[in-house]
Amino acid sequence: SSLVVAVDGTSGSGKSSTCRAVAERLGLRYLDTGAMYRAVAWWMLQHDVNIYEVDEVAAHAATPRLESGTDPRNPTITLDGTDVSVEIRSDAVNAAVSPVSAVPAVRARLVELQRAAIGDGGIVVEGRDIGSVVWPQAQLKVYLTADPAARAARRALEAGSADVAATQESLLSRDRIDSSRAVSPLTMADGAVHIDTTDLSLAEVVDLVVGLATA
Ligand code: C5P
Repeated sequence: SSLVVAVDGTSGSGKSSTCRAVAERLGLRYLDTGAMYRAVAWWMLQHDVNIYEVDEVAAHAATPRLESGTDPRNPTITLDGTDVSVEIRSDAVNAAVSPVSAVPAVRARLVELQRAAIGDGGIVVEGRDIGSVVWPQAQLKVYLTADPAARAARRALEAGSADVAATQESLLSRDRIDSSRAVSPLTMADGAVHIDTTDLSLAEVVDLVVGLATA
């Protein structure tokens, strides 16, 4: 299959769960580009890079060796050969990832890796700029959003955290930075189908996207 399904949207709108399920249903690969930005942010923190110094971040943008496993049943992300799937979900990375991903040199490098991973297609790709920048020629583009309270409640549940208010603040802070950065800000791509997932179950969203992909 040469199908590319590009799924963008705000933090916590259900992109990952949706994309993995859609990829499984359609027998496609799955690429989590957010995990790539998170892994780079984690690397910067581990190497004492000042993430608020654009030149410092840019100077190291090409150093971390990243590999993404694209099996939707077991997506992996390795940094210099070590799996960092757990580390990249930490609060420290939640706070660092949006400033790091606003640095143009970081984006240039990761977009190149993402295009190489997409290759001849047969993949569901999730992120913020997939339909607008990484793969504008995608046969299907979806833009997922949900009310902040619903997103925070879901994310806190996933993370086993009782602090829904702090989770919501963290999501909204990432949205603010992601939507206002100079390079590839989060926006709905031309031709994207907008799905508000606030009042939909995961199964309903998956059915909608599978329906669009097979229409
Ligand atoms: O999707 P996830 O919430 O894991 O993404 C984490 C962060 O990575 C986003 O808040 C955003 O700053 C960045 N990101 C991005 N472009 C993408 C995917 C993620 O800038 N395509």
